[in-house]
Amino acid sequence: MADNVAIPEGREVTYLERIGAHSHIRGLGLDDSLEPRQASQGMVGQQQARRAAGVVLEMIKDGKIAGRAMLLAGQPGTGKTAIAMGMSRALGQDTPFTNMSATEIYSLEMSKTEALTQAIRKSIGVRIKEETEIIEGEVVEILVDNPTTGSGQKVGKLTLKTTEMETVYDLGQKMIDSIMREKIQSGDVITIDKATGKVSRLGRSFARARDYDATGAQTRFVQCPEGELQKRKEVVHTVTLHEIDVINSRTQGFLALFSGDTGEIKSEVRDQINSKVAEWREEGKAEIAPGVLFVDEAHMLDIECFSFLNRALEHEMSPVIIMATNRGITRIRGTNYKSPHGIPIDLLDRMIIIKTTPYDEKELKQILKIRSEEEDVDISEDALKVLTRIATETSLRYAIQLITTAGVIAKRRKSQEVSIEDVKKVYALFLDEHRSSQYLKEYQNEFMFNEIGQGDASTV
Ligand code: ATP
Repeated sequence: MADNVAIPEGREVTYLERIGAHSHIRGLGLDDSLEPRQASQGMVGQQQARRAAGVVLEMIKDGKIAGRAMLLAGQPGTGKTAIAMGMSRALGQDTPFTNMSATEIYSLEMSKTEALTQAIRKSIGVRIKEETEIIEGEVVEILVDNPTTGSGQKVGKLTLKTTEMETVYDLGQKMIDSIMREKIQSGDVITIDKATGKVSRLGRSFARARDYDATGAQTRFVQCPEGELQKRKEVVHTVTLHEIDVINSRTQGFLALFSGDTGEIKSEVRDQINSKVAEWREEGKAEIAPGVLFVDEAHMLDIECFSFLNRALEHEMSPVIIMATNRGITRIRGTNYKSPHGIPIDLLDRMIIIKTTPYDEKELKQILKIRSEEEDVDISEDALKVLTRIATETSLRYAIQLITTAGVIAKRRKSQEVSIEDVKKVYALFLDEHRSSQYLKEYQNEFMFNEIGQGDASTV
């Protein structure tokens, strides 16, 4: 279908996630009527903001809105990034969600506008529909559902030199046995012997995207009652505009998708892709799925970026842009003007603003408990209380940091559970921001390049 525009195949890579700052967040924790549960899916409190985020989420899921912008504004550590992560998890894999910090656009390798354009195009999904028909003598690629989980996860592709789906069906069990023996994984290209059902591997399909067209028709192997095997199937996969750009860019090529080293992409390539996608839409072969571009630390964008985004939002293929900032009234980067959140008024005016507020003690305790579970650290009730107290008096982030460190101390004394003593120890070992500032003030003269008292060290 692609004429001369290559399409990368649907993303099948599963990312191994370490325990990150937000790995405990599994969604927004809303019920069916979009009401936030007090604590659910790793999310605690902040109901008002979660309710608002849920409404936006529904609009995104509908896929009907584009060019909207939302701002999450609130004090540090009040869960702005956590809410954005919750939205991302709730959207699922078929809707692109790009997560970036505003500082990422300042790079020597590409201009700010190119970095933003790439981020925007990473956030726009193209759902490509393909109807395939198996024709006699053709090479057929088949995606097999994972036989162990039965979850429809793709475990392999079969390049089958046969025409009759009935034969495929007969071979079904043999293929599955063989797949399991050979430990074939997602993305492998494999061949199957028509007579025996034996599967052999052709090697990892790094060249999947390129091979795609050469291999011809693609279908999905569905186990359905005999006689009902369908010869025509519709396969839908979602790729992003950026992936199509990279794959069709002569200078970069598809391997850049793996290295991430895409460099700047020529505007002619983008124009060509845009008109091709428009053509596919008209022919009913593809539809646009606007995703989300999340820009954390939005106050770090400068005036040029803001006006670029302002214009980009007007484009019919714009993703939903979500920004987060913890700044109050501050200077807009690149100007001498001050504005709420460091964001120009004209952009602010077209944003819906969601405010996050500080947590109460009960909520802090719940978050700390969830984090301890996530980090696999058992903590005694007393120690959790002390940790909550610390969170109230210092910050939630600082208290979260103490969980892992206290866990290490507890392990050293061969205990399975973190006690009050362990928490006290790490509290003494690691300073929070307030005590660190105090210390600096006390010993300022002994530090190099001390500038206190010269007018510009207001945060210390
Ligand atoms: P900053 O302005 O400093 O960037 P933020 O508002 O983005 O802060 P987060 O990074 O989201 O704050 O929150 C700090 C930590 O607390 C994270 O580990 C986050 O996952 C966790 N957290 C914050 N709010 C919640 C919540 N409501 N439920 C569960 N975890 C939360």
